[in-house]
Amino acid sequence: MKLAHYIGGEFHVNEEEKYLEVINPATSDTIANVPMATLHTLDFAINAAEQAQKIWGQVPAPKRADYLLDIGYKLKEKKEHLARVLTEEMGKVIEEARGEIQEGIDMAFYMAGEGRRLLGETTPSELTDKFAMSVRTPVGVVGLITPWNFPIGVPLLKAFPAIVSGNAVIWKPASETPVIAYEMAKIFDEVGLPKGVVNIVFGSGNEIGTELVQNPHVNVISFTGSTSTGRKVAELGGYHLKKVSLELGGKNAVIVMDDADLDLAVEGIVWSAFGTAGQRCTACSRVIVHEAVADELEQKLVAEIEKLTIGNGLDEANKVGPVINTEALYKIHSYVELAQLDGATLLTGGQILEGDDYDLGCYYAPTLFKNVHPQSRLAQEEIFGPVIGLISVANLEEAVAVNNSVTYGLSSSIYTRDVNTVFRAQRDLDTGIVYVNAGTTGAEVHLPFGGTKGTGNGHRDSGARALELYTEVKSVYIDFSGKLQRAQIDR
Ligand code: NAD
Repeated sequence: MKLAHYIGGEFHVNEEEKYLEVINPATSDTIANVPMATLHTLDFAINAAEQAQKIWGQVPAPKRADYLLDIGYKLKEKKEHLARVLTEEMGKVIEEARGEIQEGIDMAFYMAGEGRRLLGETTPSELTDKFAMSVRTPVGVVGLITPWNFPIGVPLLKAFPAIVSGNAVIWKPASETPVIAYEMAKIFDEVGLPKGVVNIVFGSGNEIGTELVQNPHVNVISFTGSTSTGRKVAELGGYHLKKVSLELGGKNAVIVMDDADLDLAVEGIVWSAFGTAGQRCTACSRVIVHEAVADELEQKLVAEIEKLTIGNGLDEANKVGPVINTEALYKIHSYVELAQLDGATLLTGGQILEGDDYDLGCYYAPTLFKNVHPQSRLAQEEIFGPVIGLISVANLEEAVAVNNSVTYGLSSSIYTRDVNTVFRAQRDLDTGIVYVNAGTTGAEVHLPFGGTKGTGNGHRDSGARALELYTEVKSVYIDFSGKLQRAQIDR
């Protein structure tokens, strides 16, 4: 299947462009060929977006929201099909793929509601016969640059608030996962979203991503991806004085206290660490355990990890799918080798899976280490694979200090039955998301999503706060006194 860009409401082919193969990581089969846009194609898309936005920005927000409802219903109707496409292209097991499509459905319906709010403020004026308020206006053309690990969930968390706010969108998906974006283009087309409101351009990060960030006709950049790319986007966007939102990497921990329900904690850790083969920004990759329960937790974890079934995500029996490509396999394995050199003890896993069952796919064995030093690279750097390290601590203060000792700040979790511990932990854990008696993943669309420190630059996806990025706030003063009134002077 040859994919095409979606520009100005048309599927667009440029014969001069090169195509890349899209590979199913479970089988190594080629499932599609994706064009790599030229700058000329991107220019064409930016122009289509600019023209469309002039009209779209004038459409009443509740009417814009009606399109989101239609998109939400279409996603619901196609949920199973889309989930299968997602699993084939990205590898996550089908149950999780369904969950990701559901996230898009939830966001469509939630943001459709925002079409009847888009709240500003009304306030009293300090002067008589004067009215004061603030209103939201669209920013213009929004560039979305998104990763392969949540190839539909993340873009829709960004696109829906952008659309309902009256902007036009140019979305550059990751080159590993264009097929699900192409499916989304079909949905925008089927519901009759006005031409040019959403444009999808496939292309390289270095060329098309960079140009989106620096092009003067693109007013906002919403980026999700690695911290190293995010830094480049921030530098370039900053130079061009753009509004840039960055959602970057994580190094998330589960803390298990001595009064925790250990079986519950084990379930939460296994789900958070090995779901999506550890390739979630919120994946648990450190377990900070109270020394009094460390041995028991370790035994229970090993037993559960060794029960995990690994293989093609389309088989409902499998709990862990492949990682995205062979490059990722080798990167994960190099961290495992490094951890051993750093003195960590391998308890289970630690290898690239080969042999008949795994022949052509990119499978890594779910891996657990103990005796991990909190400052070692295994405990500090984002591995983005199915690897966790146990770190023993003596008390809550030490657990919080270890949790906060990384440069990232996305998600954290604590298992305890003590209400005082819960409240202290949620206050002191330096992450954008804190879970209590649940793992490090599982955000819902109506609360803000994002992190502190190296995980981003203070913006949030999801929730009503997402609208901050996609709207300008205009303060409006209406003087109906019929005379000159001077603020701060005529009091
Ligand atoms: P990546 O940084 O390699 O790529 C992300 C996107 O940026 C891709 O579309 C890529 O083509 C583009 N890109 C690459 N170079 C660019 C450049 N110079 N200018 C502009 N765009 C460029 O990340 P990835 O490997 O696709 O995704 C994995 C990373 O994403 C992990 O670090 C993960 O933690 C992070 N992530 C974060 C969140 C979050 O919300 N915090 C969510 C999902 C993933």
